[in-house]
Amino acid sequence: MQQQRSLFDDIESNNIDEKKTIQAQDQHSHDEARIVELREQLNRHNHSYYVLNQPTISDQEFDQLMRELQDLEAKHPEMNDPLSPTQRVGSDLSQGFEQVIHERPMMSLGNSYSIEEVQDFLRRASDGLNGEPVEIVGEMKYDGTSISITYENGRLVRAVTRGDGVRGDDVTANVITIRSIPLELPKEMNFPQKFEVRGEILLPWSSFERLNKERAFNEEPLFANPRNAAAGTLKLQNSAEVARRGLDAYFYFLLADNLPYKTHTEAMDAIKSWGFKVAHTELLESIDAVTDFIERWDKERKTLPVATDGLVFKLNSLRQWLNLGATAKSPRWAIAFKFAPERECTKLKSVSFEVGRTGVITPVANLEPVLLSGTIVKRASLHNEDIIRQLNIHDHDMVYVEKGGEIIPKIVGVDIKQREPGAEPVRFVTHCPVCGTPLQRIQGEAAWVCPNKWECKPQITGRIEHFVSRHAMNIDGIGEEVAVQLHDSGLVNNIADLYDLTVDKLVSLDRFQLKSAQRIMRGLEQSRQVPFERVVYALSIQFVGETIAKVLAHNVHNIDRLMEMSAEELAAIPEIGPKIAQSIVEYFAVGSNRDIVERLRWAGLQMALSEQELASRTTKLEGKKIVISGVFQHHSREQYKAMIDQNGGKNVSSISKATSFILAGENMGPSKLEKANKLGIEIINEEQFLKMLE
Ligand code: AMP
Ligand code: ZN
Repeated sequence: MQQQRSLFDDIESNNIDEKKTIQAQDQHSHDEARIVELREQLNRHNHSYYVLNQPTISDQEFDQLMRELQDLEAKHPEMNDPLSPTQRVGSDLSQGFEQVIHERPMMSLGNSYSIEEVQDFLRRASDGLNGEPVEIVGEMKYDGTSISITYENGRLVRAVTRGDGVRGDDVTANVITIRSIPLELPKEMNFPQKFEVRGEILLPWSSFERLNKERAFNEEPLFANPRNAAAGTLKLQNSAEVARRGLDAYFYFLLADNLPYKTHTEAMDAIKSWGFKVAHTELLESIDAVTDFIERWDKERKTLPVATDGLVFKLNSLRQWLNLGATAKSPRWAIAFKFAPERECTKLKSVSFEVGRTGVITPVANLEPVLLSGTIVKRASLHNEDIIRQLNIHDHDMVYVEKGGEIIPKIVGVDIKQREPGAEPVRFVTHCPVCGTPLQRIQGEAAWVCPNKWECKPQITGRIEHFVSRHAMNIDGIGEEVAVQLHDSGLVNNIADLYDLTVDKLVSLDRFQLKSAQRIMRGLEQSRQVPFERVVYALSIQFVGETIAKVLAHNVHNIDRLMEMSAEELAAIPEIGPKIAQSIVEYFAVGSNRDIVERLRWAGLQMALSEQELASRTTKLEGKKIVISGVFQHHSREQYKAMIDQNGGKNVSSISKATSFILAGENMGPSKLEKANKLGIEIINEEQFLKMLE
């Protein structure tokens, strides 16, 4: 028995060893596959974030993936790849700006998420300095887009984005518009002949909200957060628009040869005295002070006018910076501390499905009210059917709501443990909640739409509201409530019916004031002067926003031509893709739409570009591709763009062999000049250009 058992044991332990090696092999190939997968994922997210300015996951999720990859790569050095996402800082290069190599590379910062990790960082730093004591400063980590600005003889000479850390985009023209950035320093200040400041360009909350309101109104995609808005704004080709948006900047580094300062705080005091807005900086005497700083600012940062996503801890001694140096990615003398995004758990009361103007169905979660980042949240978007399925959300679930950078809070998870027994999963509706029509799924998209465009009430009233809106026909006095009232009373079933209204008909409505009726009639009267391009926009053709409507008006000239064009002809117009072309053709294929157009024409709306607009259009620049560069005296850059368009030319952003000529003002960028000379492209000044058009 004894014997048998030990034999048995042997066999079993052999088996275990074998299992272990198989497991190890499995583990190894599993790791390999995961590394490949993570790199691919991170590259995609990097692209969404840095190139498109449209993040697809939260920073925290991104950091988590990055960490996982870093750990796996450390475990498998044989899998090293210089092109791995862990080896670079990310890239925000975009076309149209000159690229400049940074004199000193712009690095990223290491991240920490707990006081223990900050302590580890301090220990590593102290070890690296042979046990020298260290002094710590704490700062806000501003959540914008980083900038390097060089000054020579007290004058701003160049502003460059981080780019890939080695080279960035020259955005000087845009940065100059930021009012808090000094362009010329007071002579009496004692600044080095040449220096660089680094800081963060930000769009303050107030400007961010204003901008998004405007974009919502114009049906342009909203910016997810102030960081994306700032980065997007800095890359605009039009610096006047940049100026209008109201960017701000906070600085946190000074770099120059032979600086007379011993500490970072002295350097910050210096640039503050030269006129820069500096990061809030506190000297922290002990680790307790660090803990206290974290706790205090996690709350107080919410009262700041700009977004922050954490804190930065730096050693104070500039000599210690030099001694410690940096890894390939980040300095060893500074670390970021990231706050967890605010998250609350609350009960899902119900899910409602809302129908928009274009028929798209949006699922909305109605929640037990909960306080989140200072506001009471009652509703959260569930986006689309795929998201509902991914969350696997059930009736009355306890859900986690987060307000990251997004405007609308989102549900990020479900607490399954608290699920009611027998709760049913939330199902997407199959029929329109308003008119009962079976929904259709838009091909290639996650959205469901109600196809009953002409009878589904929210679609009809939505189109009326759109028609009267400020950027369309600009008719005062018809908001959501009145639109619904007009529809319910049977007076207005489509936009053309508006022109059959009279004061008498309006005042016959419940609680309708004579004054309001007169105001609406005046608005309708004035709308007859609204230019053709806005009439095209006002029609609510799917995918035809303000810009596309303008393009159509200027290329097609009148509604009759627009109504008869084929999808191929439409798609041949620059900026009109096949999806838009198809949607226009479909719109005019519907008999009732053509009737509406005829009735609007009969009502006296502008159905063609005006004689004046047509007359001033020429073909003087037909086929010409023109680059605009520099600062102008006689007209704004925008006006020159319009002139090029009016005369049949095309404004392009970067110089190539195909460029016909460059319209140059003062201070044309040196590398643009060089490129133009190299390619032998003619440079034309303002006066010469205006003469061409005479
Ligand atoms: P990350 O992009 O998350 O690696 O963080 C590094 C970035 O934080 C830098 O490139 C800066 O743009 C930004 N940052 C914001 N505030 C500060 C600050 N006070 N000191 C240093 N960097 C900062
Ligand atoms: Zn419907």
